[in-house]
Amino acid sequence: MASIKRVFSGIQPTGVPQLGNYLGSIKNWVDLQKDQSAGGDNPHELFYSVVDLHALTIPRDPKQLQKETFEMAAALIACGIDPNKSVLFRQSAVAAHSQLYWALGCITPVGWLNRMTQWKSKLQQQQQQQVESAESMVTESNFSRLNVHSNAAQGLLTGLFTYPVLMAADVLLYKATHVPVGEDQVQHLEFARDLVAHFNKQYKKKHFVLPTVMLTPSKRIMSLKDPLRKMSKSDPNEQARITLNDTDDQIARKIKKAPTDSISGITFDPGARPGVSNLLSIYAALRDTDPESAALAMQSLSNAQLKEAVAEAVISSLSPIREELRRLLGDQEHIERILGENEAKAQQVASANWKEIAKCIGISA
Ligand code: ATP
Ligand code: MG
Repeated sequence: MASIKRVFSGIQPTGVPQLGNYLGSIKNWVDLQKDQSAGGDNPHELFYSVVDLHALTIPRDPKQLQKETFEMAAALIACGIDPNKSVLFRQSAVAAHSQLYWALGCITPVGWLNRMTQWKSKLQQQQQQQVESAESMVTESNFSRLNVHSNAAQGLLTGLFTYPVLMAADVLLYKATHVPVGEDQVQHLEFARDLVAHFNKQYKKKHFVLPTVMLTPSKRIMSLKDPLRKMSKSDPNEQARITLNDTDDQIARKIKKAPTDSISGITFDPGARPGVSNLLSIYAALRDTDPESAALAMQSLSNAQLKEAVAEAVISSLSPIREELRRLLGDQEHIERILGENEAKAQQVASANWKEIAKCIGISA
C-alpha cells in the first residue's frame, strides 16, 4: 500500500450504516489511516464523503435528509474515521461535484448508462414497493432485459439513471488513484475509468488518472432475509440488515432468524450454501480470519451454534461503535465544527482541479 497517494470514497445518507457498509467499505477507510500513521514519507490523502447529492436520487424529506447526513458523518467518526487524518465532508458543500457532473454528463453516451445494473435493481425495488399493476412489475425474468425504454423505466427519475456520472465526478474531482468500495460499485468504477479515457481523448489532454478499485475480502455481505441479495441500508425490511445502532439483543435476534439450510456440519460454499456462507464471511471479517479457515474450525458445530458465534463476534465489534455514536450525537456542535473545517479543505482541492478542468473544456470556472 506504500504507493497509494489519493483515496476517495463516499457513503449515502440513506439510513444508519449496515454491517455490509462497515465490512465492505468503512473498515477499509479506517485501515488506510493506519498505514498513514505508520510514519511513511508519503502519507495518503484520504477524502471520505457523505454523498447527500446521491441520496436525492430517491425522493427524500428535506429535514430527514439533513438529519441523516449529519448522523452519517457522526457514524463514520464513531467507526474510527479521524478528521485529522482524513478529510470528512458533505458532498453538497463542494459545488464542483455538481459542476463536473454536468461536464461529464455531456460526454457520456446514454448506452453506457443503460448497461448499469444498480439503477435496474433500485427501479425494481421501487416498483415492488409502489406498483399494484402486474403489467409494469419488474420480475426477475425480465430484469436483464430492462432498459431505459422499458415501460417500468418511463417514470424513472433522471438522477437515478445518471447516478454513475455523479459518482465518476466525485472520484475524478480529487484525482483519486484508489477507491475503496464494495463489490456493487465495481461496475460504476469501470464506467468512471471508461469516462477518463473518453475525456482525455476528447480534449487531447491526460488530465485525469485512472482510479483503481480497492475491495475487502467481505466485498459483498448478503441480506439476512435473502442471502442471494446484498445487504442494504435502504432495504424496506429492517430484519434483513444489522445496523450500527442495533442493540445487542436485536443483533442476536436478527442473526438467529437468518436463513441457513438443512445440511449438517459447517462448510463454506457460497453457491450451494449461501446463508451459512454469508454468516461465515461476517464472522471471518470480524475475527481477522478467512471464511474457509473459520468453517474448518467450526465444522462440527450446528447452525444454531454457528449463529451464536457470529452474534458474539458482531456484538463485540459493533457495541463500542454504537456507544461512541451515541456519545457523539450528544455533541452536535463538535461534529458541525469538524465538518466545517474539513469541507474547507475538500473545497480547496476540488476547486483547484475544477479550474483546470474548466479551462480544458473551454468554460469559466
Ligand atoms: P442504499 O441501499 O441506500 O444504496 P447501501 O447499503 O447500498 O445503501 P451505499 O451508501 O450505497 O450503501 O454504499 C456505501 C458503501 O458500502 C459502498 O462502498 C458500497 O459498495 C458498500 N456496500 C454497500 N452494501 C454492501 C454490502 N452488502 N457488502 C459490502 N459492501 C457494501
Ligand atoms: Mg447502495
